[in-house]
This record gives sequence, C-alpha cells and structure tokens, in this order.
Amino acid sequence: MSNSAIVGINWGDEGKGRMVDLLTEQYDVVVRHQGGGNAGHTVINEKGKFALHLLPSGIFREGVVNVLGNGVALDCENLWKEIEELRAKGVSVTPDNLKISDRASLLLPWHRELDGLEEARLADKKYGSTRQGIAPFYSDKFQKKTVMAGELRYPERLKAHLSDLLEWKNLILRRVYGADGYTMEQLTDWVSTWGEKIRPYLCDAGKFFRDAVAQRKRILFEAQLGSLRDLDYGIYPYTTSSNPVAAYAPVGAGLPSMKIDEVIGVVKAYSTCVGEGPFTCEWFGDEAEQLRKAGAEYGAKTGRPRRVGPMDIVATRYGIQVQGATCIALTKLDVLSYMERIPVCAHYRLDGELTDDFPFPAALPDAEPVTEYLDGWKRDISGVRKWEDLPDAARKYVEYLEKNLECPIRYVSVGPERDAIILR
Ligand code: GDP
Repeated sequence: MSNSAIVGINWGDEGKGRMVDLLTEQYDVVVRHQGGGNAGHTVINEKGKFALHLLPSGIFREGVVNVLGNGVALDCENLWKEIEELRAKGVSVTPDNLKISDRASLLLPWHRELDGLEEARLADKKYGSTRQGIAPFYSDKFQKKTVMAGELRYPERLKAHLSDLLEWKNLILRRVYGADGYTMEQLTDWVSTWGEKIRPYLCDAGKFFRDAVAQRKRILFEAQLGSLRDLDYGIYPYTTSSNPVAAYAPVGAGLPSMKIDEVIGVVKAYSTCVGEGPFTCEWFGDEAEQLRKAGAEYGAKTGRPRRVGPMDIVATRYGIQVQGATCIALTKLDVLSYMERIPVCAHYRLDGELTDDFPFPAALPDAEPVTEYLDGWKRDISGVRKWEDLPDAARKYVEYLEKNLECPIRYVSVGPERDAIILR
C-alpha cells in the first residue's frame, strides 16, 4: 500500500493525465493540489476523449474519490462548465466522487480580466500566459486579497469581504489599466450563479485526508505542468505561479503531514514546451513541423502549436532531481518511429564549456545543445505491449535514457489509449 504522486518532469504536457487515468484503479483517492484551469490533461478511455482542466483524472473511475485541494486556483465558473461537459458524455460527478476543499481560494472574474490586461501591457515581452487568471489569482492569494471557498457558507460575511476587495480591486483596474471595474451587483450575481453550484461539494479536506490515512486509503497526487514551470525551481519568470513539485503535494492537498512513498515522473520521449521562455533544444522549420505533426503537439487548452525538440537530458535530469522521482513513465515513444536516427540533447555548452548541470535561469538563454544520435527503429511500435517485443533500437534508446537520467524507467507508453503501455 502506498501513496504516490504523478508529476511532470519537464515543461508540462508530458502525458500525466494518461498515466493518472491508467493508474487510478490502484488508488482510492485522486487529488489535484496546485494550479488551475490553465493546462489540459488529455484522457482517452472507453467513455471518449476528454480534455480535463481542473478536475482530477480519477473522475472516470467508479469508486474513486476526487479532491480539489486548498492549493488549487478554484475557478468555479469553468469548473462547473467542465463538470457539465463530462455529464453530457455520461460521466457521473456528484458530491460523493468530487470533494472541494473549503480552504481553496476562489479565482474571481477580475483575475481573468487582469491576466489579459497585463499580457496586453507587456506586449512583445509577455510571459505567455494562458489568460486564465492564474498569476493574478495567486498574487492575490498571497497578499490575502481573495476569498476562501468555505466563505460561501457564510453569505453575510462573504458579502462584506467581497465589498472590501471590490473597492481595492477597482482602484487597480481603473487607475492602472483604465478598465471599467466591477459593481457589487455583478460580483453578487457571479457568486450566486457559480459559487452556489459548487457549495454542495465543499468539505473539510484536512478531516477527509486524516480519515483517509487512518483507513489506509491509497492516495494519488496529480500535479499540473512540470518541474521546469515550478515557481521556485523552474525557468523563472517563465514559470507558473504555483508549485508543481511533489514536495508541495501534501501541503496543497489538505494534510501537510501526508507521506508520499512513490513519485512517478512523467517524461516524454522528446521535448515540447508551450509558451515563452528559453528552450535550449528547440527545433525550427521542417524538422520541427514533422515532429509536431507526428506527435500532434498542439495545446489541449489553447490549441497553440507546441515548441518541439529532441529529448533534453540536462533539463530532464534536473527535473527528476527537483521532483525526487523514484521512477519514470516514458510517454510517446511511438512518435519517434518515423526517424532514421534519434537525436538527444546530451549536454549543454555554456561559455565555451560542456556542462551537465542545468543553468540558472538568467544563464539559460546562452546555453547551446550538444546533440548525440542513436539508431532509429523505423517500425510502428504502437501495438507492442511487451518489453521484449520492442525493436532492439527502441530498447537501446530507453536504456540510454535510463542510464543518463539516473532513474529507472518503469513504464513505456506507445499510444494514448489506456492499454498502450509496456511495464518493465
Ligand atoms: P498532460 O497535461 O501531461 O496530461 O499532457 P497532455 O494531455 O497535454 O498531452 C499528452 C498528449 O499525448 C495527449 O493528447 C495524450 O492523449 C497523448 N499521449 C499520451 N501518451 C501517449 C503515447 O504514448 N503516444 C501517443 N501517440 N500519444 C500519447
């Protein structure tokens, strides 16, 4: 019996949703502990194809309780729309299989507006925000200028609290950005439309997890994004505004003392990156377009073409260290089947020197990739389910990665479907 975290090792979009969907049958509880609706986990199963933004990926499994912890950016409007979409496809979402921490803070309508206004102000220096309000939300949370979901249970206090926030926020919206600002009536309407919908799902997550731990329930922590987007350990300022690292999971879930026994780091067989920031191994032109097409690398939330390149050993090893990954799930190996030879960014060159250490963010734009090549296998491997049935060259690639990433590769994924997986 163990608690596990499934985390992204790189820039996000590694295929975490697919791994959580596969592994949830071994767990009783799946919890999202950070981030908001700014990323998308794509899950394909017998009920259809889904892009989950805020809901935990365990929502498809009967008997699994899904929790949104205090660390998430709780956007009740978009959460409700996501719930309705799932219901329309026959997925059951009830207060029995979805619980929302009453300590999660609310992403309010002005957060999304401010995100757009600030990105527009930054113009060509923008951070590449998805404009879902995440950065303004977390800034407000840390300066204690938003409300906790549990306040929905105390309407009079909530009203007074919102009125104070409104006065302050309107100063910023109007004086800094020249926007219209909000009225109390708009806010109250928003709360009664969207806040009320999620009220039945609220719970004391600390108590829920204390009981779950006492009953030896198995808990799966599901992170959003990846190590290199972590606010403290990523490529700041091109990071997200929360902590996707496994160490934060118990804090953001609801019971900081929970132990994580296993950290499964999800790594894609090549590199992709959505948004801005230095991306050392980036490819351009035809080479990039071919890989992007082969891997269908377009953002689940935004549809933006992802930046692509070969596996980056330096960044990935750093990502593994930051997460404390105990094993790796390697995804999308099938995508590389078209290549004659498989390129890997084996080292960086920085200031004329070879290095295997991931540079400090301010030095990263000067790093250059040092590429090595392995043999390709030039065969469709998407039907393979056993390690020994993989072509020799594909096994050698996986073994090369395992050795250089210094972490065991336990799962190899060769397709998006639930069963397209090789266990080692
Ligand atoms: P996440 O946010 O980390 O869950 O990643 P995304 O959902 O944004 O991106 C992963 C994409 O790759 C999804 O469209 C998955 O269905 C797909 N996918 C996951 N694993 C595999 C695989 O092994 N092979 C292929 N071809 N697609 C995969």
